[in-house]
Amino acid sequence: MSADCLFCKIAAKQIPSKIVYEDPELFAFEDISPQAPTHILICPRKHFESLTDAAPEDQALLGKLQLVAAQLARERKLLEGYRTVLNSGSGAGQSVFHLHLHLLGGRQFRCICLVAASSAGPRASRCAISLPRIG
Ligand code: AMP
Ligand code: ZN
Repeated sequence: MSADCLFCKIAAKQIPSKIVYEDPELFAFEDISPQAPTHILICPRKHFESLTDAAPEDQALLGKLQLVAAQLARERKLLEGYRTVLNSGSGAGQSVFHLHLHLLGGRQFRCICLVAASSAGPRASRCAISLPRIG
């Protein structure tokens, strides 16, 4: 635990949150400012500032973040689809520096097209090339 970390304090229940999943390695809670009808943050209990701090021995833990997201999506019947997002670094929009995976669902998302508009060809006309903070 990092003493001045918001999400470590949420894990320790020192700060209230709507926890939706917990196990010895991970915890998940509702985002305080939801960007979709379902917006859950899934975190390892181990404090990493960002994905950049993860090491090969964290491989299973990082995979489990995604599997818990899929489990929560199934439970919430996000049948139309859902999005998982992990912002790493302030340049990517990370604002809380404890690694977390966003699970967003229950609304339509714009396509995130990573091909530059000038070289996208016909694909560009189908893709709204726009990269808001999380979609
Ligand atoms: P990011 O910008 O990727 O670092 O995401 C941080 C997320 O944490 C944002 O979506 C915030 O709305 C959310 N957040 C910040 N404080 C809290 C809190 N006390 N409880 C729940 N979610 C929070
Ligand atoms: Zn932390």
